[in-house]
Amino acid sequence: MKKDQIEKTIEAIDKTMHELLGAIRHPLKKGEHLKNCPFCDYGGDDWLSLCERDPDNWFVFCRQCCCEGPGGIDRDNGIGMWNERGGHEKD
Ligand SMILES: [Zn+2]
Repeated sequence: MKKDQIEKTIEAIDKTMHELLGAIRHPLKKGEHLKNCPFCDYGGDDWLSLCERDPDNWFVFCRQCCCEGPGGIDRDNGIGMWNERGGHEKD
């Protein structure tokens, strides 16, 4: 497959994944940081999604092991709940 085809495929999979989750994915803002997944230790934007299911239901989803973090009542709370779960800081 050509590079743009691969990117389109990944985009489509990503969209489907978040549709199944019933959530919208939000890119991280500058200064926001997510610890690596406590289960698979994957981290970073490629693997972790900050998701909004409802305006008062935010959580982090790991696309490597498909685990879902605890829900927070807003964006910051969702990030905080994830980061307090005992994951590892990224070097
Ligand atoms: Zn994981």
